[in-house]
Amino acid sequence: MANTDHLVDRLAEAFDTPVFKAISEVADGLGYECYAVGGYVRDIFLRRPSGDIDVVVVGSGVTMAETLARRLGKSAHLSVFKSFGTAQIKWHGLELEFVGARRESYRRDSRKPIVEDGTLEEDQYRRDFTVNALAVCLNGARFGELVDPFDGLLDLQNRLLRTPAPPDITFSDDPLRMMRCVRFATQLKFNIEDEAFEAIRKNAKRIEIVSKERIIDEFNKIMSSSVPSIGLVLLDETGLLDEIFPELKRLQGVETRNGRGHKDNFYHTLQVVDNIARESDNLWLRWAALLHDIAKPQCKRWDNVAGWTFHNHNYIGAKMVPAIFKRLKLPLNEKMKYVQKLVGLHMRPIVLSEDIVTDSAVRRLLFEAGDDIDDLMTLCEADITSRNAERKRRFFANFELVRQKLKEIEQKDHIRNFKLPVDGNDIMRLFGLPQGREVGELRNAVKDAILDGRVPNERQAALGFVISLGEEKGLKRIADVE
Ligand code: ATP
Ligand code: MG
Repeated sequence: MANTDHLVDRLAEAFDTPVFKAISEVADGLGYECYAVGGYVRDIFLRRPSGDIDVVVVGSGVTMAETLARRLGKSAHLSVFKSFGTAQIKWHGLELEFVGARRESYRRDSRKPIVEDGTLEEDQYRRDFTVNALAVCLNGARFGELVDPFDGLLDLQNRLLRTPAPPDITFSDDPLRMMRCVRFATQLKFNIEDEAFEAIRKNAKRIEIVSKERIIDEFNKIMSSSVPSIGLVLLDETGLLDEIFPELKRLQGVETRNGRGHKDNFYHTLQVVDNIARESDNLWLRWAALLHDIAKPQCKRWDNVAGWTFHNHNYIGAKMVPAIFKRLKLPLNEKMKYVQKLVGLHMRPIVLSEDIVTDSAVRRLLFEAGDDIDDLMTLCEADITSRNAERKRRFFANFELVRQKLKEIEQKDHIRNFKLPVDGNDIMRLFGLPQGREVGELRNAVKDAILDGRVPNERQAALGFVISLGEEKGLKRIADVE
């Protein structure tokens, strides 16, 4: 039998704080049994710091919170949610959540339970995992006593996610718990007990009754973990991926023709996401990694000479981003634009590095990537998952060249936040032109000339260029512009 005494020793220290002393006295005064529960208790054992404290009261959570708030004084901020029977106190960076012990029952078509008052054990039984069902008594006489009817501490020690109730019921009642399960497995690097795993596979389709916002919330927690692929593989193996993100699922598989195969783009993508996760915490850069090859299935062609090709998958992929973001309820703002841009440009540095790196190509890349150039380079390096060490070394060496060149050119030409020194208004005034195609063409010609290095990135030079170009096309200059 595994010994968990050393874990229990951590409790005394964790609860030896003024706020728990205050809760204890208030609970005793009201005659309520009172327990710290859930993630807060779990995280003490896992030594993960956390400021969210959930407290279960066998009695009224609201009365408990109101009394405690008065006692803590002005620095405590109380919010009462009457219809849920819960109350929250914010106090010196802590968030305390009070709720009465409850029992739950569910209807088939909704994850919202019918709630009744219950005992502590009933409250623990309705929780998602045994490691989230640990309770520590806060009353004076039993202060710091662990109440663990479902052997959560043992599971915690064995790093196991197991449900207090039969898993088929737990996951069918509230299918969001399936996403939470995969999320905890990824965040905490815990295993999912076999029976629970099977129950998720069985209930995966029921995820459809959960709101998109809740699902993406959990998905983003998986994406934000240190090794996101753990969760992405679990989502796949449980069948959840098929339900929530079919485009990713479609990346799976290898086809062979004339003895030539291509890589499995799903596992390649997971590797790229993990590579990025080692380099950056930026969730949206991780999303760019997740979606960088998303259009490969549509773009796959067989060519007798070249073998498998995926022409334009970057371009088509970028076009798919808005619809995916919309369906998944991800933000449709500059975050999406950023992901879209990186997906669209992700082939550029690699093509550059295979070629002779010309100044003009580097200027164009800088112009299009702007301030996101460093993230783009990070993404492209993460994209090199070749198993051939020599190939890998060559790519990285060439990338170093591209990076150097980027630095040189940026210092010289300041293209990163490049604004054309001549705009459409100038061109319209110079030649008395209406807005339209002709103006756009002249504007592009100036842009190309500057990016190619044929014209310096300065106003006078650019004006001179556009005037002579216009005159060559038979336009008459009718005004001067400064
Ligand atoms: P974290 O705060 O890191 O996301 P947590 O375990 O604290 O993890 P919360 O969402 O804060 O998760 O919930 C607090 C507690 O409430 C959980 O530990 C668990 O006991 C319970 N809980 C939360 N959501 C559910 C659910 N959908 N089904 C059952 N119990 C849940
Ligand atoms: Mg929490």
